[in-house]
Amino acid sequence: MEKSPYTGVRRFVLINMILVPFIPFLLALGIGNHSFSRSIENSTIASMKRIAGDHRQMIESFLLERQNDLELIINTSSFTELVRPERLSSIFLQLQRITSAFVDLGIFDDTGVHVAYHGPYDLSGKLYRDTPWFQQTLKNGIYISDVFLGYRNIPHFIIAVAKKENERTWIIRATVDSQRFDNMVRQIRIGKTGEAYLLNRSGVLQTDRRSGGNLMESPREKIPLPRNGREIHTFIHREGREEPFLYATTWLKDQNWVLVIRQEKTDAFMALREARMSILFISLVGGGCIVAAAFTLTGAIVRKMEKTDAEKALLSQQLIGASRLAELGEMAAGFAHEINNPLQIISTELSLIRVLQSEMIESGQLTPGEPHEQVTDSIDQIKLQIDRCSRITASILKFGRQGESRSENLDLTVVIPEIIQMVQKKAEVHGVRMECRLPDTPVRVTADASRLQQVLLNLLNNALDAIIEQRGSTGGIIGLDLSTGENGTATIDVSDNGTGITPENMEKIFAPFFTTKPVGKGTGLGLSVCFGIVQQMGGKMEVTSTVGKGTTFSIVLPA
Ligand code: ADP
Repeated sequence: MEKSPYTGVRRFVLINMILVPFIPFLLALGIGNHSFSRSIENSTIASMKRIAGDHRQMIESFLLERQNDLELIINTSSFTELVRPERLSSIFLQLQRITSAFVDLGIFDDTGVHVAYHGPYDLSGKLYRDTPWFQQTLKNGIYISDVFLGYRNIPHFIIAVAKKENERTWIIRATVDSQRFDNMVRQIRIGKTGEAYLLNRSGVLQTDRRSGGNLMESPREKIPLPRNGREIHTFIHREGREEPFLYATTWLKDQNWVLVIRQEKTDAFMALREARMSILFISLVGGGCIVAAAFTLTGAIVRKMEKTDAEKALLSQQLIGASRLAELGEMAAGFAHEINNPLQIISTELSLIRVLQSEMIESGQLTPGEPHEQVTDSIDQIKLQIDRCSRITASILKFGRQGESRSENLDLTVVIPEIIQMVQKKAEVHGVRMECRLPDTPVRVTADASRLQQVLLNLLNNALDAIIEQRGSTGGIIGLDLSTGENGTATIDVSDNGTGITPENMEKIFAPFFTTKPVGKGTGLGLSVCFGIVQQMGGKMEVTSTVGKGTTFSIVLPA
């Protein structure tokens, strides 16, 4: 396939049209995406921290309240009072009214013997001296255990408070309903996958976990426990091929348990994903628009260039044609001039023959008669033809005369028939009837005769061309009507029954180089020059036309 000369230009324009808006577009999207992602990430992490902080506060309050419950009992009752089973039962029932968190209540003496117990198990009399919880309580005065199985063999944890009374230390201990505590810790809901649970220092679960993992089991994933302190740590952890999670971890106040809040990363950063999808959508739509606009505009630009170049090529061809015509005109003028001289000589010689003939008749050398009359007729015919040739050469010379326009007083009723004469022959050849309607009285205008001739000749030739195109050589009529207006203006109408002019061409016919004729025939200069000439004369030129019926050009000249 032949490569279009516009391929390079098209590619250049297209690349620039795409690249130039794309660079700022991508920059804006990139910067927007970066700051948007950062802000969403920050706000997600901040909200995770806030939830962890609130939840920690709630669990700590619960434990503190339970601890306070026991402290209140131990501070308001004596050891001897509490070891009485009915007293312990009544206190337990009072406690139940405040909270249902406790399952049982027990009193221990300083040797670790379970001296009194109220609860569902039979634990009275058991010895706890060597258990870690007992030792810790003695040492610290207060103890909250991890979840353990104990004698009863079901998971539970205990809160124990010690009191020194008369040099002897005794302990009150209560078991917390593990299920209730579990529910409280787990009740959190964040997104679809958010959950909360507690781990002890060895990473063993102190509550059940929604996403799998039971109380007292160690979760499969090993997350780093936070450093001691009140800070809330956030991080992303991924175990093997599992979904990564966003974690928030923090120690509870007594530093034994770590509260873990976690949510699947995709769930936690859902807003980020949605934002990224929107940005992707905007990029695709925006990019698509840029590319589509670039293609459309490039197409339009290249088409415009092609059209302009084509017009330029046509114009230069028409210019060449016009200059050829101008040269031809000059040659015709020179030719007419050259022919004029021999015509003058022939004419003079003919006059001489005439004189000689009369002298010979007078002197009787020639006798009048048949041969003599034939010679006279021939001489007359020669004279007639010489005059005709002279008229033709004179009109060519007149037409070709250049330079300043010379206005003179013209009688249109005389000038017009002369001009008609010049196209009469051509019209006859193509079977066109010339109808010339002139007023009886002279119609005078001030104009340059040769230019007026040029205008009318052009109109007549155009009319002939239109007729030949429409009808060939039959039925053509050209009308030439001269009339006078109210204020002495003269109107010349040149009408024909040729092709007519389409409305869209109507706007262009007076423009230079507009032609509908084949290359080499029309130059498109005729009407534009005529228009200029008529304007210079102070007149105006109008046209009316019906396609397929014919056209009338009217020239109105001032008196
Ligand atoms: P050219 O004759 O070289 O084409 P012109 O300026 O004289 O240039 O005319 C311009 C165009 O106007 C012509 O090509 C033709 O299409 C249209 N035109 C002029 N006169 C007539 C007419 N009498 N009938 C139909 N079309 C005409």
